[in-house]
Amino acid sequence: MKIYNTLSGKKEEFVSVEPGKVRMYVCGPTVYNLIHIGNARPMIVFDTVRRYMEYKGYEVLFVSNFTDVDDKIIKKAVEEGVEASVISMRYIEECKKDMAGMNVRPATAHPLATEEIAGMLEMIQTLLDKNHAYVAKDGTVYFRTRSFAEYGKLSHKNLDDLRSGGRSLLVSGEDQKEDALDFVLWKPKKEGEPYWESDWCQGRPGWHIECSVMSKKYLGEEIDIHAGGEDLVFPHHENEIAQSEAANGKTFARYWMHNGFLNIDSGNNVYQKMSKSAGNFFTVRDIAEKYDLQVLRFFMLSAHYRSPLNFSAELMEAAGNGLERIITCVENLKFLSGSAGEAPVPEEEALSREAGGFRAKFEEAMDDDFNTADAIAAVFELVKFANTHASGASSRTFLEKLLSEIRALSDILGLIVEKQKEILDEDIEAMIAERQAARKAKDFAKADAIRSALLEKSILLEDTREGVKWKRA
Ligand code: AMP
Ligand code: ZN
Repeated sequence: MKIYNTLSGKKEEFVSVEPGKVRMYVCGPTVYNLIHIGNARPMIVFDTVRRYMEYKGYEVLFVSNFTDVDDKIIKKAVEEGVEASVISMRYIEECKKDMAGMNVRPATAHPLATEEIAGMLEMIQTLLDKNHAYVAKDGTVYFRTRSFAEYGKLSHKNLDDLRSGGRSLLVSGEDQKEDALDFVLWKPKKEGEPYWESDWCQGRPGWHIECSVMSKKYLGEEIDIHAGGEDLVFPHHENEIAQSEAANGKTFARYWMHNGFLNIDSGNNVYQKMSKSAGNFFTVRDIAEKYDLQVLRFFMLSAHYRSPLNFSAELMEAAGNGLERIITCVENLKFLSGSAGEAPVPEEEALSREAGGFRAKFEEAMDDDFNTADAIAAVFELVKFANTHASGASSRTFLEKLLSEIRALSDILGLIVEKQKEILDEDIEAMIAERQAARKAKDFAKADAIRSALLEKSILLEDTREGVKWKRA
């Protein structure tokens, strides 16, 4: 299996630190709003990487944080007149609902920055002890980038250019940094902000130290994969490497994976990165009103994860049609299988072997730096093959083989290819009758449970004098 490693700028054969185990950390969102579909891209992409690794037999420890202390969260809390934690908790819950809708599995751990402060204080102290950090007059602690010889190895940036770009700040005296590239590990609180006690000042951590510490605590000092969107390469991931390697004296992560941007037409066919700050975004919730979120997942996987991806209604339509093609094939195979004969059909032996061959194509694509676009193409070929060879004369064994191949490959991509069952009118009527009987018998708990079960399927009940009325929400 080959992975493109941002660190080397090349595709490399994947070799895990511990055989059979993958330790993977994905930088998660800052939770001050509903997530947009740009944030959804790394979630879907790296969930798929995880699923494929598991398919290949690895045990995957997958950690993704929520950044729950940040200027934007504090600003929103002040606007609403509530504690910052009220905002972050609200949007963590909403984010988890969106993830479930996109069939992104919960991580092995979802640490919160605010719950890991002790580890941050400890790592900052280690960096100070090793002379990789210094305390400025106002109690801010900075990382000393010049003390880490390999600084810049991930982003391959020209540090001299960056330094001269940042020099004006130092000259103007606004900054207490020794060097323009030094970055904050700990900063003093401002009035009304959440803060923690420390030896340097009452304050809060810088963003980069959070991930270094959470990754170490949940996955250890040397991990296999560290991932996120490409905007995180510099400075976030560069700084994480500097902190972790300077503090731990070990390679931080072997493979650095970065997804390309999800872009959107900002007018006149000019595509720009979707972002909250630019205001050019759709939330996952907006998209869920128009499409099944499986369509969004399919759309994201229809491009290679490192390529830029332009969002448009036309491409979403195309994704919807593509997914529908697979679902229709599955439905058809299930239908045929219902009345298929048990007797083996001689020529099916060779066809079954051929059907299994699409899996090799699928794996070849996924082994090549998770080329989901080509993997989906292999699924389509399999669907076409099934549509050509499955018929009323096929044996159940052959139909089941086709079904299980399509399901298995779709499942690796996290795509649900079963038609979601709609509840039928007669089933609703039957449940209402059962509820009435329960009420008559004064079993109100059961009556309530039936009402809730219907509500979960978006069926609303209204008790009127003429009896129970119901409607679909
Ligand atoms: P943020 O909440 O901005 O820190 O972003 C959370 C994750 O979403 C990070 O991995 C970002 O790189 C990623 N991300 C944000 N915007 C986009 C976008 N337009 N396309 C792809 N990834 C994005
Ligand atoms: Zn991070």
